[in-house]
Amino acid sequence: MELHIDNVSKTYGDGTRAVRDVSLTVSEGLIGLLGPNGAGKSTLMQLIATLTKPTAGTLRWNGTDIVDHPAAMRRVLGYLPQDFGVYPELTAPEFLDYMAALKGLPGDAAGARIDTLLDIVGLEDVRDRVLGGFSGGMQQRVGIACALLNDPDLLVADEPTVGLDPEERVRFRTLLTDLAEDRVVLLSTHIVSDVEATATRLAIMNDGRLTATSSPKTLIDQVRDCVWEWVVPRSELGTVRDRYPVTKLTHESDGVRVHAVADQQPATNASPAPPTLEDAYLSLLSDTSTPPR
Ligand code: ADP
Repeated sequence: MELHIDNVSKTYGDGTRAVRDVSLTVSEGLIGLLGPNGAGKSTLMQLIATLTKPTAGTLRWNGTDIVDHPAAMRRVLGYLPQDFGVYPELTAPEFLDYMAALKGLPGDAAGARIDTLLDIVGLEDVRDRVLGGFSGGMQQRVGIACALLNDPDLLVADEPTVGLDPEERVRFRTLLTDLAEDRVVLLSTHIVSDVEATATRLAIMNDGRLTATSSPKTLIDQVRDCVWEWVVPRSELGTVRDRYPVTKLTHESDGVRVHAVADQQPATNASPAPPTLEDAYLSLLSDTSTPPR
């Protein structure tokens, strides 16, 4: 199972260069596509899901060009879009049965598959309740069940944790990790904690470009010895934030303790601090921000 993305760009009709010369190869495991809003994550996912075509470059699944042969991708793809919506008056089995029919799954096979999926996503207990009363997290789990109807080799989930409470977020992460054991799972998010403990690999996007692809550990290693903590007077906080990527602030009696990335000791009272993925991420974004449009 391998998805090859080679020098892919996507420019929308209005001239927006949403994806710029992205190359990436992904295989089994959970791959986190991390980037701020507007970075191009959704567009890249739509390109992979064959919902839009690149302006340049090629995308191949196990060697087959999916722009020329979208059906080859769609057969093995599960896609959870950002704006996944449910029919509020249906129960989860009714909704999934309806979606299975739309996807052309034979009725007999669909029934058994839906029971298995409700169990996988932890909605077996609420199978008789209508979806309108589900929490955001429960609805997203219905979305994942829907994306899994065809037992896909590639599962693409576009910002699935937006709007979920912390408990649901953790539950959703665990679910995606389990699903990534025998397939490719591509998860986009702008929240570092969604991917820091679970992703086997991270692809970081900013302003349409891929700025890094590596394991979370490798990224963290890149800022080792460059992370500091020190206390600054409240009046100087603005200047410090302008100068360094600050990932944590704690208010203390004598000022504000900042946790920030800097190549060299930023102040005489600064001491080295253990690096986090958030440090690595913000540092990368600050290095690559504001390229010309
Ligand atoms: P992300 O998912 O990282 O938030 P998107 O792929 O949604 O990023 O958006 C990347 C850029 O492309 C943004 O500037 C966005 O406004 C723009 N964009 C997205 N969809 C369209 C579209 N259909 N037409 C024109 N511009 C778009």
